[in-house]
Amino acid sequence: ELRIQDISPEVRNGCQELNLSDSVLRQCMEKLRAQIDLGLNPSTREQASVKCYNTYVQDLPTGKEKGQFLALDLGGTNFRVLLITLNGRHFDMQSKIYVVPKEIMLGAGEVLFDHIASCLESFALQHRVAKKNLPLGFTFSFPLNQVGLKSGILTRWTKGFNCANTVGEDVVQMLAKALAKRDSIKIDVVAILNDTTGTLMSCAWKNHNCKVGVILGTGSNACYVEKIKNVIGFDGDTSKPHVIINTEWGAFGDHGELDFIRTPYDKEIDKHSVNPGKQLHEKMISGMYLGELARLLIIKFTKDKVLFGGQINPKLQERWSFLTEYISDIESDPRGVFKQCRNVLGKLNILDPTDQDCSNIRYICESVSRRAAYLASAGVATLINKMDIPSVTVGVDGSLYRFHPHFHNLMHEKIPELCNSSIENLCINLMLSEDGSGRGAALIAASGSENN
Ligand code: ADP
Repeated sequence: ELRIQDISPEVRNGCQELNLSDSVLRQCMEKLRAQIDLGLNPSTREQASVKCYNTYVQDLPTGKEKGQFLALDLGGTNFRVLLITLNGRHFDMQSKIYVVPKEIMLGAGEVLFDHIASCLESFALQHRVAKKNLPLGFTFSFPLNQVGLKSGILTRWTKGFNCANTVGEDVVQMLAKALAKRDSIKIDVVAILNDTTGTLMSCAWKNHNCKVGVILGTGSNACYVEKIKNVIGFDGDTSKPHVIINTEWGAFGDHGELDFIRTPYDKEIDKHSVNPGKQLHEKMISGMYLGELARLLIIKFTKDKVLFGGQINPKLQERWSFLTEYISDIESDPRGVFKQCRNVLGKLNILDPTDQDCSNIRYICESVSRRAAYLASAGVATLINKMDIPSVTVGVDGSLYRFHPHFHNLMHEKIPELCNSSIENLCINLMLSEDGSGRGAALIAASGSENN
């Protein structure tokens, strides 16, 4: 058992600003709810940091979807092409991961879409479906103002992407244009969606109670099932009662709503990101940033001579050198054991940490990941309170949630504490999504091709 005195008081005090009480979290929730309400109304969406885009997805899966579909998944670490066969409860998938080189991530939009089309072409030829005119669902996980199921205007790049001449353009048209240059393939883009929507759909395919989709990966976002009557000026099918709303909650805080809890470390990360001032909520929560947050705290305490005898290690001084994976490793040690911790520090050329150093490092990691889990929980609780239903399954995808040893438990515990006490018999489940981006795209392509 870890003794409290093993953590230096300076570290304990210094991490205090990352420690968010329920009352602070409730303040965040109130502000988030206000932004959601602004976002749901087209006449006020401009002022909203949380845009709440209509996805035009109005049907949850029935389990009867059938056929062969292609899917593209672009939105973070990997770019994938998938061939999916659905038949009742049977699901088969072949996929291939392609690399998006850094220069393409930051290059011209046309080059990005030509690259995608060329990967798709080689995949389709290889799987002998190039000329079949298969319906394709495009999981494109960047903020998208959708105008229809197969039309979406890119509003901004996030997560390290930044391609020229693309913001304000219709992503489906850019893809279709790149595909049209290739005579050897015939593919019908029938739907564009976000990974959150894919996650919700893939979980709902298994569990009809799934009404929320959350991403905790490179970035962070959520979607939920909203009543049509709450979506002002809804221009989809008004004969159906619901629609999935893609909140784009990663941008919460971009209008100053989170300034009351942002720390100097958050500001430093933002300053050195490719999108300063943007996605501030995401920068406190998602996998792309947590390791760097921990690193900044470690550097601060080293400079204060509380860690490593004040010796600053050059490797640790490099930005992004402390991976979010390391947080998971360090927190997976049993309390008071520092095997993984020493292993991680060894990778950073810190070879002789004391137990006290390790204990402090673990506390820093816990503070960073707990704040992230609590902020994500506050977001989920805001959506559940808004839907006002007692029993909800939340589909979650992303490596941070999947691999961090305590993220699930932290959220599972915190969400009910933040839900309205007026909701009786509250029952909230968090369900890990299995490949939501791929499966979800196929499920939506299935309904998209039906409706064509
Ligand atoms: P994406 O969101 O890009 O589709 P992932 O869900 O795999 O892909 O998320 C990648 C992010 O997850 C990276 O930012 C990485 O730092 C983080 N990550 C990867 N492995 C782990 C891990 N073991 N623990 C915590 N975070 C992780």
